[in-house]
Amino acid sequence: MLLGVSAAHAENIFLLKDDSMHQVSMMQTFMHGAYDGVITVSHLKANGDTGLGTFEGVNGEMIVLDGVVYQAAADGSINIMKDNETIPFATVTNFDEDANISNISAKDFNDLTAKLDKEIKKYGVNNMYVVKIHGDFPDITVRSVEKQEKPYKEFTEVAAVDQKVFNYTNQTGTVIAIYFPEYMNELNMHGWHLHFLNDAKDKGGHVLNLTMKNGSAQIDEIHEFKMILPTTDTFKNMNFTENMTSKIHSVE
Ligand SMILES: [Zn+2]
Repeated sequence: MLLGVSAAHAENIFLLKDDSMHQVSMMQTFMHGAYDGVITVSHLKANGDTGLGTFEGVNGEMIVLDGVVYQAAADGSINIMKDNETIPFATVTNFDEDANISNISAKDFNDLTAKLDKEIKKYGVNNMYVVKIHGDFPDITVRSVEKQEKPYKEFTEVAAVDQKVFNYTNQTGTVIAIYFPEYMNELNMHGWHLHFLNDAKDKGGHVLNLTMKNGSAQIDEIHEFKMILPTTDTFKNMNFTENMTSKIHSVE
């Protein structure tokens, strides 16, 4: 429960259907190995219907689509997570479309993010964005991560040792792309973070590379940010003087 906030009061705060980015913890904390759950899946769903993240102990990759919280597990399976599972890091919003792009294609990850960058320049690179891109993916490479046991390793080590990579062909599905502006780096991550879930709901994960055709993108432009901090001793005692930018970019 939140510090000094009654359950009923917290429900009222978080059930508002606003147009905010809701973030659980922060990227810098997560990179340092703070993988204890901060809120539950049911609490997250009350904060947003679209987004991405992970589960307690880095138990796979999270994709939130149409109000359902999916886990892309390290064994390659996709599971709908139970309401009482907990979440150490996530970013969600109540998605509403402000703009769209039709007939978008991409020859690789950088081509797609360059196209998204070009598009958001029209609306402002200092806003936050959540973009839902539905399309055909002739090739898509995703990763998931093995659930960690305590004492938790820093995330760079986890990604080096316990990352599972999957190469899929001829998938149709949705990429959830989240953009944070430069000044929010380390609070989250500057630039684009992509997770994928196919329409069959049996393949997905954190996107490492892709080719895409017949894409259509819906863009949600976001101007508000709400963050829930962990209340653990790990967080209370964490040292934030290290610059984590290069580590964040090495794993994302
Ligand atoms: Zn990810």
